[in-house]
This record gives sequence, C-alpha cells and structure tokens, in this order.
Amino acid sequence: MSRTIVVTSGKGGVGKTTVTANLGVCLSELGSKVLLIDADTGLRNLDLMLGLENRIVFNCFDFLDGKCTIEQTLVRDKQTEGDLLLLSLTKNREERSLSEDEMIGIISKLREKFDFILIDSPAGIDEGFRISIAAAEEALVVITPELASIRDADKVIGLLLSKQIEKVNLVINRVRPEMVQRNNMISVDDIVDILSTNIIGVIPEDKNIIISTNRGEPIVKDKNKSLISQSLKDTARRITGQKIPFLDLESHWIKRLFFKRQRS
Ligand code: ADP
Ligand code: MG
Repeated sequence: MSRTIVVTSGKGGVGKTTVTANLGVCLSELGSKVLLIDADTGLRNLDLMLGLENRIVFNCFDFLDGKCTIEQTLVRDKQTEGDLLLLSLTKNREERSLSEDEMIGIISKLREKFDFILIDSPAGIDEGFRISIAAAEEALVVITPELASIRDADKVIGLLLSKQIEKVNLVINRVRPEMVQRNNMISVDDIVDILSTNIIGVIPEDKNIIISTNRGEPIVKDKNKSLISQSLKDTARRITGQKIPFLDLESHWIKRLFFKRQRS
C-alpha cells in the first residue's frame, strides 16, 4: 500500500528539504520505491540537495499541457541504490501554479507506482502549503527546538487535523544536547508536553550538512558513521513501522567530550 506524506513545518529554514532528501535515500535503500515531490516552487532546492538539478527536462505543466507523459516528468536518482525518483513542481514561464485538484490528479496517477511519496512543502501556511497537503494522507512536521518553530508547528498541526490529516509525526531537527544540558535549549520532553504529538525522529545539529548539501549528496550517504546519519536512518526505519529506540544524544555528547578531554 502506498503512503503519501507531506513534510511541512510552518516556519522556514528548519530542515524540511534536508530531512526529505535524506529520508528519501534511506527509505529507498531499505527497499521501498520512493518518489520525492518538490512542492517548494519558490526555492526549489530538493534537486540541488540530491545532485539532480541538471537532469530535469519536463515539469508537471508539460504533462498537464499534454506535452509529455507523467513518467517523463520524473528524474531517477542513479546514485542511490533502489528506486528514488524526483518530481519538481516548478512554475512555468507564465508563473502559473498548480491547483489543489491538479495536485490530487498527479498524485493519484503516481500513487500505485510507489510505496512512499514524500512531498517537500514550502514555508508558511498559504497557497503552497494548501497544494502540498491537498493529496497527503500523513504528515511529518519538522521543528527545531525554538519557541517560534514550535508555535508555528502547533498552528500547522491544527490545520492538518482540520483537513483530516490525522497521522502526524514530529521530527525534531538541529538538536544540540550540550545546550539542552545547560538549560539553554528546549528539551525533547518539553516539546512533547507542548505539542502532544508523536515524535518519530530526533536529529542532531551537524555542521557537515553544509558540505553534503554543496556536493549534492545527502549526508546519509557519507561513509563516516555520524550521529546525524544514524538518527536519519533510524527515523526512516520508524516510518516503515520498525520499533527503533532513540539514540541518547546527551550521553553520546558527553562521551565525545570525555574522549576529547582524555586525548588532550
Ligand atoms: P527548509 O527546507 O525547512 O527551509 P533546509 O532543509 O533548506 O530547510 O535547511 C535550512 C538550512 O539548515 C540549510 O542551510 C541546511 O543545511 C541547514 N540544516 C538543516 N538541518 C541541519 C542539521 N541537522 N544540522 C545543521 N544544519 C542543518
Ligand atoms: Mg525547503
């Protein structure tokens, strides 16, 4: 059975596109057929993060205008083991944007070909958000441990529920255990109390993301075994229904500090 999941947040810059690209790679490496849809027509950077920016030939309007088949609008990521494809909902020259009905039509044509369709949504709760959620049955809400992000997520969760999207899971991104320890950052437990929504992923802050983004290679492909990579892989497994315990980021952080001190 196919699952269509919108990756959303309310607040921009919290890591939706990063999470979508990495979970796409992980889910396809776990054996699922995965389609990623870039519904952030304004910023459109899912193709960059996957290193596919030069491979897009047709967009969804070419399909809607009868110039190509729906399959021709999909770009396959040949660098990833398994089936990972990308559909970019770029605006055409007339800046026409997709309607909710057109989005529903496109997804219904593609649904049976994939196990997972992940839709990367733009920031905000306006038109782009409405189109992104139009055909979704589930949502991943990405937040960072900051009040502004949590408040926006609260609003978004309310909107999702009002659209009958009831299966909502949280991904907490850019967690810095050392700041939580010093009481300078909101903890995961506090977030659970505020949002009372199930948490499916806790992803640490990692400055190496910049390198992977610039290379067009999601960080989970990195050969170095990093905490961020492990936490993204665990999140993908939880999405498929596996019961995976959460990494204890705090104790990992303390261990790292301890070894650093021992070495110095
Ligand atoms: P969004 O799609 O929500 O706007 P992006 O995925 O584009 O957010 O990420 C915004 C910025 O945050 C990017 O520069 C990205 O590299 C950075 N970023 C995302 N996740 C992390 C992380 N876990 N650690 C460090 N930087 C991150
Ligand atoms: Mg984005």
